[in-house]
Order: sequence, then C-alpha cells, then structure tokens
Amino acid sequence: MYLYNSASHQKELFTPKDPGLVKMYTCGPTVYHYAHIGNLRTYIMEDVLEKALEYLGYPVKRVMNITDVGHLASDADTGEDKMLKGAKREHKTVMEIAQFYTDAFFRDCDKLNIKRPEIVEPATNCIAEYIHMVQVLLEKGSAYLAGGNVYFDTSTLEKYYVFNDHDEEDLAVGVREGVEEDTNKKNKNDFVLWFTKSKFEDQALKWDSPWGVGYPGWHIECSCISMKHLGEDLDIHAGGIDNAFPHHTNEIAQSESYLGHKWCRYWFHVHHLNTDTGKMSKSKGEFLTVSLLEQKGYDPMAYRLFCLQSHYRRNLVFSWENLDNAAVAYEKLIARIAALKEDGQVEQQTLEQLKKRFVGALNGDLNTSVAVTALYDVLKAKCSDATKLAALEDFDRVLSLNLLSAARALREKQAREAAESADPEIDALVAARAQAKKEKNFAEADRIRDALKARGIEIIDTPQGTKWRKV
Ligand code: AMP
Ligand code: ZN
Repeated sequence: MYLYNSASHQKELFTPKDPGLVKMYTCGPTVYHYAHIGNLRTYIMEDVLEKALEYLGYPVKRVMNITDVGHLASDADTGEDKMLKGAKREHKTVMEIAQFYTDAFFRDCDKLNIKRPEIVEPATNCIAEYIHMVQVLLEKGSAYLAGGNVYFDTSTLEKYYVFNDHDEEDLAVGVREGVEEDTNKKNKNDFVLWFTKSKFEDQALKWDSPWGVGYPGWHIECSCISMKHLGEDLDIHAGGIDNAFPHHTNEIAQSESYLGHKWCRYWFHVHHLNTDTGKMSKSKGEFLTVSLLEQKGYDPMAYRLFCLQSHYRRNLVFSWENLDNAAVAYEKLIARIAALKEDGQVEQQTLEQLKKRFVGALNGDLNTSVAVTALYDVLKAKCSDATKLAALEDFDRVLSLNLLSAARALREKQAREAAESADPEIDALVAARAQAKKEKNFAEADRIRDALKARGIEIIDTPQGTKWRKV
C-alpha cells in the first residue's frame, strides 16, 4: 500500500516495522461538546484506513485517547481548559461532561459505522505516565521549569517543524486563537508539559506532581498513551490536518527527545471539512452533528458516502446540495443492489477481476473515491448476481456502507408495501383493461380506466407492464 506520509512529504510504500502487527494511534475527541461532522470526517477516514489495512492483510492494533483534560482554548497553551468551558456552559462537573460527550461520540461513531479502536484511553487515566516522561525530559535537559510550569525547550532540537509543507492557513489554525503571550517561554514554540501556574487555579482536575499540584499539557497525553499501549515504535499516527501543528509537531519533539530515537514512521492527516463560510469548529459553537442530519431526514450512511467520495487529502466543502447528491446516490445504489437476485453461483475468476480495481484504489494512497466507483463497476459487470453480491459484500468490509443489509431492508419494505396494497379485484380490472387494449377495444379500456379512477386508483403503464396505485 502506498500512503502519503506528511513527515516525508511524499507517498511511500507502507512497510510496518513488524508486518504481523501495524501499530496505529489516532488522536481522539476533546469531549467538551458533541463531535461535529467535520471531526467525524477525520474519524471516518481513519476508520477506512484501519479497515483497508486489515483487508490488505495487515492486522492492526489501534489506540485512541479521549481528551478530558489539558486541551486549552488555544492549541498554543493559552486560554481556558476546553473541558472547564464545557462544564461551566452546562453547569455540570468536568467528569460528567466528559462521560456525557464520550458516550455521545461513540453513539455517533456507531451510526456512521466507525469501529471503536481496540484501546480507548481517557487522558485522566495516565497521570503517572506523563509525570514520568516530564521527569525524564527535565533530566535530559530537553525541558525547563519557569513560572511554575514545565516547558519543552524547542531550541534543543535539530529540527522542529516536521510538517512544513502544509498551507500557512492550516498551520496558523492552532495559534490564531491564542492572543496572550506566555512570557515564561524561552523560545516562541516552547510548549507546556505540565501546568501549575496560578492563573489556572480554577482548573477542576489537578494532581500532585514533583513540580506542584497541576495538570498535564495536551500534547503529552498522546505521546504517553501511545507508548503505554504500543511501545517505543509507532507505525502510523493519524489525525486531522489542524493537529499537524502544533499538536503532532510537539508530540514528535517530546517523544523523540524522551526515547532518543525516531518514534513514528508514517503520519496520516485528514484534510478539513469546510462550509462555504470556512472551517467547521466546535469552539465557535455553531456546527452540524449527525443527530441534526438525522433530524433533517438524512441516513448517516449518506454522509459516510459523501466523505468516501472524495480523497482524504483534499478539503471537502459541505453544503446541503452536496449532501443531497450523496443521499440520492446512496438511495440509487441500494436500490440497484436490492434488485440483484440472491441465487446462482459465484464466479471466482470474475470476482478476483472485480477486486483488482478496488484493491488498486486502496493501495493508491487510500483513494476511496475510486474505491466507490468500483462498486458501480460491479453492478455493470457481465456476471451472475451472486458474483456481484459477493464482491459488494467484500468491498463493504472496508467501506462499511451497509450495502447488503440496506438492500435487504429495502427489498423487505417493497415486499411489505406490495402485500399491503394487494387487491385481487383491482388486479383483475387492470388485467381486463390490458386485454381490452390488446384487442384494440380502446373504448372498453378507457371505460375500465375511468371506473378505476372514480375509485381513486391510478393506472401507470410502464415498460414492465401496467401498475396501479391509490391516489
Ligand atoms: P477535537 O475533538 O477538537 O480534538 O478534534 C477531533 C479531531 O477532528 C481531530 O483529529 C481534529 O484534527 C479533527 N478536526 C477538527 N476540525 C475538523 C474539520 N473541520 N474537518 C475535519 N477534521 C477536523
Ligand atoms: Zn493527539
């Protein structure tokens, strides 16, 4: 599989350190509010990456954190803790907020068929690990104490900006919100590993540490949680593009200084979902959720298809019109699958042929839009329906669009509706009209049609024969 690696700025042949197990880490949600559909674009694409790796024969162990402490309003260590902000907004405790929005997040993931990672770890579970890493960084001279906080010293690094081919716009996202200057910092990019300073006294969650009572910085949690479960070598680290700087840049700085060797081999960044007025953002308070899409009558699978139809390294513009198009495409796709017959033999050779394009799409930097078009190739293929169904079922192991179950549900619905509306007397009249037409007795045919119309029945002539419906 070829994957674009943000750290090397090119597509690389993916080779995990141990081919028997891909170690994958993904930044989890900051649980102070609902996840918006932009956040969920990132989680959908990470889910597809994990499933594609498994499909291609690489077993994956995936870890994700839940940020329930330390993520300040600005990604650059200033402002209020986002969790505290959420707790104040809803007059609840920070832990109540964390529990509520963690549950809400996984409910949204379920609706979108996003698999829960094998290990999910709340940041507040790993305080001892953070303290240990900060201690080692201080001992190594990579960190310093100033004004009560412990900072990472970026001047000790040979190279700090690892992902510097991103748009200025994206790089600016993390720092733009932070207007305050922290005068304790020796260098502009130094960042907090452990906070104790007094202006954060209203911080709800605090722990004892060698540097005083305080709480961890946001970046350290991902380094430590990853190492706790995946060891010193990580194959893939994933997240949204806004996390590349400063979050992931800082993760690399502290992890590699701590370990004394390279830490993560591949960086996978999902670009943003934007609205026509700009980036969708939780902190702005106005954002779209999966529940809102459902309330408006959209199947969450239509949103998943919408995301899959574009490449993860392109910004995606959300509009209702674009979502409508995806919803129509999804409905049509399911209707075509529902029309396939569940009998006949699977033609193995054809099945392998059909798989080729799909596998090629995944191998080419997770090209999900081509993978989606492979579904239409299956529907158009000259082979048995059983072969088509087998191919669709196989591809859905990665795409997770409920292709077969939604088609089955549609068939059952159609059968139910047909049974409910069955009426032998009307069927007989419709048949009599058809016979009259065949015999060119148009007066009789019209008479029957008018009689049916008077009873509220509309006749529809289709290439498949005459149908009727109650109006
Ligand atoms: P947060 O809960 O704010 O920590 O963000 C969770 C994930 O969503 C992170 O990986 C972010 O990089 C990602 N993310 C944030 N905003 C967007 C967006 N508009 N489009 C796609 N991903 C996003
Ligand atoms: Zn992270």
